Amino acid sequence: MSKPDETPPPPATAEFGHVTPGGPTHVYPQRDCMRVKKFSVGPFDNNVYVIECTGTGEALIIDGASDAARIAREVEGLQVIGIVQTHGHPDHVQALGDLVDLLKVPVYAHPGDRMPVKAQVLHGGKTLNVGEIEVEVIGTPGHTPGGLCFLARGHLFSGDTLFPGGPGNTGGNASKFSEIMKSVDRLLELPDDTRVSPGHGLDTTIGRERPYVETWRARGW
Ligand SMILES: [Zn+2]
Repeated sequence: MSKPDETPPPPATAEFGHVTPGGPTHVYPQRDCMRVKKFSVGPFDNNVYVIECTGTGEALIIDGASDAARIAREVEGLQVIGIVQTHGHPDHVQALGDLVDLLKVPVYAHPGDRMPVKAQVLHGGKTLNVGEIEVEVIGTPGHTPGGLCFLARGHLFSGDTLFPGGPGNTGGNASKFSEIMKSVDRLLELPDDTRVSPGHGLDTTIGRERPYVETWRARGW
């Protein structure tokens, strides 16, 4: 039996975390005390995620993208411990200044990417604690030098490093492409049932994507 050359695109359903810019928030099935929300903001359909420990009420925002008012509404009543950045591209950071003013919380980012606000240095290998939840930081350069992914209880927040159907954009640059593929190779070591929630669009799983990695490598982008 031959397999298709490309990852079958996920359907636009709740199962794959379908959200639309400015539209309703998606809440994932809770894993013990971990409650995760996804919503999309702005002209580039940027996903923002909130990881909450329902035991303590602590929460972490992933990507201060585009719409500070919406993000602040989504964390009302929660004790936000900080904002982590998957990377520093303009569409992922425009709300940071307003969010820092509103929420008075630290921003964490890899120093390889420039941020519009003062950020605490974060590297792969670090762990952040959100109440009882450990969030593992994974360094994934390639799309940008300072790319980071975040893994919490089998849920990977992959920024613009890994999407359904392959790696994020590396602008036709061969060395950036080989770098992002090294990052992707490391992510693909995660278990099949790891949910992958990217910076734009639908979710996927590691098991759905891994069979196509050599197709992407041969394609070269
Ligand atoms: Zn990007």
